Amino acid sequence: MKPLLIVMSAPSGTGKTTLCDRLLQDYPEITYSVSCTTRGPRGDEEDGVDYFFVAPAEFERRRAARLFLEHATVHGNRYGTLRGPVEEAMAEGQSVLMDIDVAGAGQVRAFVETLPPDHAMRAGFVDIFIRPPSLAALQSRLQGRGEDADEAVALRLRNAAGEMARAHEFTHQIVNDHLETAYRELVEVIEAAGRAQPR
Ligand code: ADP
Ligand code: 5GP
Repeated sequence: MKPLLIVMSAPSGTGKTTLCDRLLQDYPEITYSVSCTTRGPRGDEEDGVDYFFVAPAEFERRRAARLFLEHATVHGNRYGTLRGPVEEAMAEGQSVLMDIDVAGAGQVRAFVETLPPDHAMRAGFVDIFIRPPSLAALQSRLQGRGEDADEAVALRLRNAAGEMARAHEFTHQIVNDHLETAYRELVEVIEAAGRAQPR
């Protein structure tokens, strides 16, 4: 498979983590891009595995030092992707999977477009938006996950509409209604992108 820079966005609670975890299990050549965040760990999340949990001042230091490939404030917390690990993994011929919000995805898309067409990050760029079947389904998934307080669920639902309004910016859109069907569609997108020859 040609190295891919896979960017996946979805309203929180859609099932992006579920789909990403499965993809990472099935494709050892894909590395997960661990983001930095100023939010605290949720459930059994581990520092350095799910996120790098950093204090706001440290996040700001990294941003000012231009260490982030992209960064955004989502649901009141800051999130950012470190540039170094993404570039290193791709230089080694690995694919990278980024689970980021629509604003961050827009920054990565704009950045790769400044690169020469044969640059690995541009030639391998794949952007995918995962949709929930409905806002009602999203609400029940967020509540069912049981990791967020009621206020956090309400905030995530309010933000979902704004994120869905930017879905058209993505080349690929997948509805996560039936999990197996959504995963099969995701694999098809990845396989097709991995087979495509550089332009
Ligand atoms: P995200 O990473 O998008 O915030 P998660 O992967 O944590 O979402 O999924 C949110 C909740 O929805 C989890 O409890 C997960 O098990 C469940 N879920 C994921 N996909 C589906 C699906 N297709 N149908 C029903 N529930 C799902
Ligand atoms: P959560 O707090 O539920 O893990 O993530 C909330 C939102 O932040 C999700 O939409 C997730 O994709 C996004 N996110 C996670 N890491 C990053 C990142 O590094 N950059 C950006 N822009 N968004 C991120």
